[in-house]
Amino acid sequence: MSLPEHFDEGALVAVLTAQPLGGTLDYLAPEGGIAVGDFVEVPLGPRRIMGVVWGLGAGGFDLKKARKVGRVLDLAPMDAAMRDFLARAAAYTLTPLPAMLRLATRAPGLSDPPGAQKVYRLAGLVPARMTEARGRVLAVLREHGGMGFGLSDLCDLAGVSASVVKGLVAQGALIEEAAPRDAPYPRLDPDLPAKRLTEDQATAAATLCGAVRSGSYGTTLLRGVTGSGKTEVYLEAVAECLRQGRQALVLLPEIALTAEFLTRVEARFGTRPAEWHSGVTMAERRRVWKMAGEGGVQMVVGARSALFLPFRDLGLIVVDEEHDGSYKQEDGVLYHARDMAVLRASLCGARVVLASATPSLESWANAEAGKYDRVDLAARFGVAVMPELAAIDLRAEAVPAGRWVSPTLRQAVKARLALGEQAMLFLNRRGYAPVTVCRACGHQIGCAQCDARMVEHRFQKRLVCHQCGESTAMPLACPSCGVEGRLAAVGPGVERLAEEAAALFPDARIAVLSSDLFGSARALKEQIAEIAEGGADVIIGTQLVAKGHNFPLLTLVGVIDADLGLQGSDLRAAEHTFQLMRQVAGRAGRAERPGVALLQTHQPDHPVIRAILAGDEEGFWRAEAAARRQAGVPPYGRMAGIILSSPDMKAAFDLGGWLARNAAPLHAAGAEVYGPAPAPIARIRGRHRVRLLIKAPKGAGLQAAISRWLAPVKLPAQMRLAVDIDPQSFY
Ligand code: ADP
Ligand code: ZN
Repeated sequence: MSLPEHFDEGALVAVLTAQPLGGTLDYLAPEGGIAVGDFVEVPLGPRRIMGVVWGLGAGGFDLKKARKVGRVLDLAPMDAAMRDFLARAAAYTLTPLPAMLRLATRAPGLSDPPGAQKVYRLAGLVPARMTEARGRVLAVLREHGGMGFGLSDLCDLAGVSASVVKGLVAQGALIEEAAPRDAPYPRLDPDLPAKRLTEDQATAAATLCGAVRSGSYGTTLLRGVTGSGKTEVYLEAVAECLRQGRQALVLLPEIALTAEFLTRVEARFGTRPAEWHSGVTMAERRRVWKMAGEGGVQMVVGARSALFLPFRDLGLIVVDEEHDGSYKQEDGVLYHARDMAVLRASLCGARVVLASATPSLESWANAEAGKYDRVDLAARFGVAVMPELAAIDLRAEAVPAGRWVSPTLRQAVKARLALGEQAMLFLNRRGYAPVTVCRACGHQIGCAQCDARMVEHRFQKRLVCHQCGESTAMPLACPSCGVEGRLAAVGPGVERLAEEAAALFPDARIAVLSSDLFGSARALKEQIAEIAEGGADVIIGTQLVAKGHNFPLLTLVGVIDADLGLQGSDLRAAEHTFQLMRQVAGRAGRAERPGVALLQTHQPDHPVIRAILAGDEEGFWRAEAAARRQAGVPPYGRMAGIILSSPDMKAAFDLGGWLARNAAPLHAAGAEVYGPAPAPIARIRGRHRVRLLIKAPKGAGLQAAISRWLAPVKLPAQMRLAVDIDPQSFY
């Protein structure tokens, strides 16, 4: 039986809202009737809130008490594929449906009638009285070429209060006017001349274009080393999608990378695509959201949450750097954007392209199993080749205490500098030193709120907790024994490495790239551009530098501690080390000059280090896949994490113990429970964290079993329970 799609006036309909009330709410259809998928405004208590008509009302209460839908909003209705996507994403991640709708409607003013908003633009008059704040407002508007801004956007961008803007209006320096309706984006032209592709690239592009033309779902893993032209190739798939009249979405892991990408899109298609990420103004968010639904935007570039935009006809989703850890949302709704991209595409007949130089084992295994197609780009574009890789065996090097650059690495850097080339020292640790210890009593300074050591940040003269962000001024005396002047830094962070580099290479210009040293994405971008043009000789960097930035003069990468990621209990430790080392090595020799990557290690015979050195990717994946299959862990088995957190440690353990003892629904599905145990980070922001880990065979109905298992649980006050399906990090 098919469900009714249209309801006449007075019919009882279910409306999904973003209110955390569990499910849908029942209302009476208004005059003129209503259709499934319509965005509506409904009364709730004294308020009016937005919702989506979801289907037939459940009823079961006195219909005289039912309230009427207020009005149908002037928004493109949510289509069946999108409703299905939200419902399945909710079921997969065990998230209440209202929370999914909240993710899917994160744009302001959706229920405002058009023209209700006011925008401000330059009038061309100079105000009689100029202040610094007023100057900033005018500068923002000038910088954006006469574009009008809503009040809150303008205040945010200029860092002023509303009264400053109103003052400028009163003085005649700004014009206040009703906002025009959100306008469609300028058309992209897929048929402008493209770059001449190499034979390899052209074949790959033709395959992807054919897949896009098919108009049906499918996923392709596009693999190729950094610089092989993956971006060029998938832009051709985007072009094909645009020719089909469908919309394309490109997900990027880092906002800092979008600027370069937007320029490339503009060069290829004649104009920029729409952007969707945390740096986009509120007015722009609303425009992107509405245009996605009305078909007024052809291409969106964005962060993971762009997956929840209401695209009218999505034909292609590209997930660039698909292995990147930032695609997993780690708070609120816990979802993995790569998996959700595949789900969404499968429901709306779109293609997915997963691009990476170092794919996740999940995607590699899906390609092996034939679930994904795979397209490989063999060579780097132009004459650049993969750098030569070699280990520096730290067991055979004389490195003085408190120093981390071996004599061999030092010589190699010196030789590059003498040629006028750049060298990079890579260390994936922010700050000055990971541990501060008191030489008098042996105390290690920890965070008062978390189970973590405080990390010294010498530039800021502070100790910082990398878990919760708490920071304190660097103390003079030991907080435990009170003795002054005996606190010592133990171990290296990038700041300390910079100090060592300055001593070793006194004539070199040294730049440190670490996310915490930049106030904004823009400052970071500027610094990266400056370095790329030769503004530094030695680049000291954390994981930040591994991500896609282009440094043409860089010919040597020294990895300070290749063993760092191999420690720890994370099941993906080997995979992540492999990916990170390969990416970092890939930074060297991108232009005409061949590069070298040197890995300092205490275990040159470790299988991961050997696979990296040999450049044997397939070998590494096969070995890693075999080990995971043997252990029955993802992607060959399923996992879920349960984190209970509470200020009261005993309460969290008690509930964890009860859950472990009452796990019959899990056992019935063939799953096992481990724990409760203190989570690897046992305390964050004063909340004790207790973890249960669930392991299940691949075909088990894991989510259904977990739902049955957790159904009887009544959470005590202050207790939080989070379910993490397919956990990525083991915090
Ligand atoms: P990837 O995405 O695999 O890292 P890119 O597509 O960014 O590779 O290509 C690396 C660089 O080489 C870019 O600057 C790109 O413009 C250039 N490039 C790649 N292929 C071509 C080509 N066929 N013609 C001209 N330039 C190219
Ligand atoms: Zn802390």
